[in-house]
Amino acid sequence: MTQELAAGAQGAGMEGLLAGNAGLLFVLGVGLTALAVLLFLLLLLSRRQQRRDMREVVLAVESLRTGRAARPAELDPRSPFVVLADAVNMLGQDLAARAVEAEGRGEGFRALQDAARDLAVVTADADFDLRGLSAGAAALLGWEEGEVLGRPAAVLFDEAAWKDLLPKLGRRNLREHGVEARSVLLRRDGSRFHGSVRVRLIAGSAGEARGYLFVVKDVDEDVRLEQELRQSEARYRGVVEAIPEAVVVLRGGRIAHLNVAMAEMLGGRAEELVGVPLRDRVATRDVMKVQEHLARLERCRAGERLDLHVTLVSPDGRGGVDVRLSLAAALVDGSAAVVGTVADETAARRLEAEIRRNESRLDAVLEATTDAVVSLADLPGGAMVRMTNRAFLDLFGLREGQVLGATEGDLLRLLRERGGGAEEVAAFLAAASRGTRRETCTLGPAPARALELTASPLLDRTGAPLGRILVCRDASRETAEGRRLEGEAESLRAARVDAEASYRRLAAVHEALEAKSRETERLNRELRTLDRMKTNLLANVTHELQTPLVSVRGYTEMILKERLGAINEEQRKGLGLSLKNIDRLISMIDNLLAFARMDREAAELKISVFSLSAIIEECRETLRAKVEARRIRLTASFEDPGIVVNADREKVLQVFLNVVSNAVKFNRDGGEIRVEVRKGKAGFAAVQVKDTGIGIPEEDLERIFDRFYRVGAGSGESQEGTGLGLSIVRNILRLHGCSIRAESQVGRGTAFTFTLPLAAAEAGLEEERGTASPRPPALESPPPPEPPPPRAPEPERRSPATGDGSPSPRPRFRIIRRS
Ligand code: ATP
Ligand code: MG
Repeated sequence: MTQELAAGAQGAGMEGLLAGNAGLLFVLGVGLTALAVLLFLLLLLSRRQQRRDMREVVLAVESLRTGRAARPAELDPRSPFVVLADAVNMLGQDLAARAVEAEGRGEGFRALQDAARDLAVVTADADFDLRGLSAGAAALLGWEEGEVLGRPAAVLFDEAAWKDLLPKLGRRNLREHGVEARSVLLRRDGSRFHGSVRVRLIAGSAGEARGYLFVVKDVDEDVRLEQELRQSEARYRGVVEAIPEAVVVLRGGRIAHLNVAMAEMLGGRAEELVGVPLRDRVATRDVMKVQEHLARLERCRAGERLDLHVTLVSPDGRGGVDVRLSLAAALVDGSAAVVGTVADETAARRLEAEIRRNESRLDAVLEATTDAVVSLADLPGGAMVRMTNRAFLDLFGLREGQVLGATEGDLLRLLRERGGGAEEVAAFLAAASRGTRRETCTLGPAPARALELTASPLLDRTGAPLGRILVCRDASRETAEGRRLEGEAESLRAARVDAEASYRRLAAVHEALEAKSRETERLNRELRTLDRMKTNLLANVTHELQTPLVSVRGYTEMILKERLGAINEEQRKGLGLSLKNIDRLISMIDNLLAFARMDREAAELKISVFSLSAIIEECRETLRAKVEARRIRLTASFEDPGIVVNADREKVLQVFLNVVSNAVKFNRDGGEIRVEVRKGKAGFAAVQVKDTGIGIPEEDLERIFDRFYRVGAGSGESQEGTGLGLSIVRNILRLHGCSIRAESQVGRGTAFTFTLPLAAAEAGLEEERGTASPRPPALESPPPPEPPPPRAPEPERRSPATGDGSPSPRPRFRIIRRS
């Protein structure tokens, strides 16, 4: 029993470590203390009996402490210590029961440890001092449990491996997940092995570390296998890399591995291409084909293979390399994969295409040449015709089917059969096996032809013979052809001499023309200078003439009105005539001045928005005297009385004055003038001035707008004038981007129609109403001038005289028609 208790205590110690049975010791401690106190009390109460009972209880407690078989305390039931003795006895029974239980558990744990013989289970306390070794551990490590108990756990590990492992054994790690690691362990005999180590924390009831459980498994074999695998993989990768061909390993259609050659072919770096589906790198037309075959091969057993012709493309789908993709099902790293090797066929295909092109070129040349050609290839069974041309067939009257593919013997026979000299060709060909030979022969019947025969060997690059080629040139035809060509060359030479003479004549003409053109250009320049001078002279002279003339007119008028004294009837008549002529002169000068200015001030338009009805009214007022003098009826009608235009007001008034004054001047007495204004096309107003005058002959209609042109000038019938009025009108209208045209019937009247730029409706309305903004914001020209005050009646307005009777200068640049 004592041994049992000792075993129980030892078992309990292990249990305490393993199962956390701390209560037992605690209860034992408390019980002993309580007993000591009670003994003391009993000692006090009863010396003798008490001493005896006490001894009995002490013996029982002592048996409990030593762990031997519990000795129950037997007391007189009347003894005051009987309760204490009962308690001690119960404590003993409890301890015995628990020891049995703990021993059972320990046995179970030990059985568990020993059952897993390939696992080493090692326990250590909180300081990593060894506390237990399973049978598996003892077998694996070579230590007996007794040899290592109490020694640090590091003794079981390689020094460096333990240093690596220790930091991983953080409490938190252990508590939460435990630690699993590969490590190197040390056997008792100093040998090392790789082990997979699992470490778990043995925690107390308060979570404190009470020890550690190490479970170790020998993985030396696994490590060896892994190393071998890695080595073999490295070897296999090395081999793949060393292969000059492009190699790729595919899994699930994606690139699992590829060598540098393959990466180069795919236009990327190997590490970037791993994982990329192969279909992304083939031309669209090949995608389905590649997918299908890859899927099929992955299901096949290793060794199955097939070839595909595909085009590899760059990531953006451009470029393209034609390749032959040889795929084979294989086991790579233990799983099914497809290994592909790629051979670039671009060069081969280009070569093939080039060969085909060369062949067609050769065919074309052969067909085009007039020389008869036949080529024999040396084959193991004898020479055979591989190539000929139309000229050869025609020359010897043979068919393509007879010649192409015929053996040398057949060809020679065909030639001999033809006769007429062809047998000489056959003999020449049969003899021509080495080196180049030339010969001539005559081929009949009539007309007999002289043939120049050339036979040359066909050699490959190394100089090895490939066959022979025979060329038959028809020398007689060449001679005839030569004569014809000579004749043609002669006539070409003559034509060239003619052409050269013509060229020289042409060059002379060209030179003369250039000289004339230069002369014309010079004359033009002179003319332009003269024209400018004339315009300046005109402007200066007319300006100088204007002032004295105005003064002469003023005085003449004053004399005529007898402000300087009475005059007789004859003087009045003479002065009246003078006044009329002075007016004519002034009118002419006005015209000339306007014309000269028009040339010089062409670009200076003072654009404003104004009403056409106001302009026409001003024109009517100006010409009122003339109109009334001729009893002419002048009417104006408007499609829209509010029509406003965007133009130079002064110049537009001049247009109306010139046109309407012509209509008055060339009208019959009592005639009619109608001015019609309507909205025309594309932002233009259309104005028509129609009279019932003498009309203009059709041949003059185009010319009346020319400077100084007057119909019937010099015939004595024409009206007076400078012939500048309409020219000025056309220039003014052109400056505004407008045009004018005339329609006329001789004896019935003339109609002038011209356009003027319409202003925006709003601007026009504001102008009409005289609102705040008199001109449209788009226009940068100065504001329109105030409408001129109503004109004085013609005779008064003509008079430049002022109130004090002295002549005043006339306003310049106002064209007023006076007839
Ligand atoms: P100026 O206007 O300089 O005083 P002008 O009237 O003769 O001289 P233009 O106004 O340019 O010169 O007219 C040129 C010519 O066209 C006139 O001389 C005349 O023969 C003819 N002509 C112009 N208008 C009419 C018309 N309404 N009826 C008939 N003939 C005309
Ligand atoms: Mg005129």
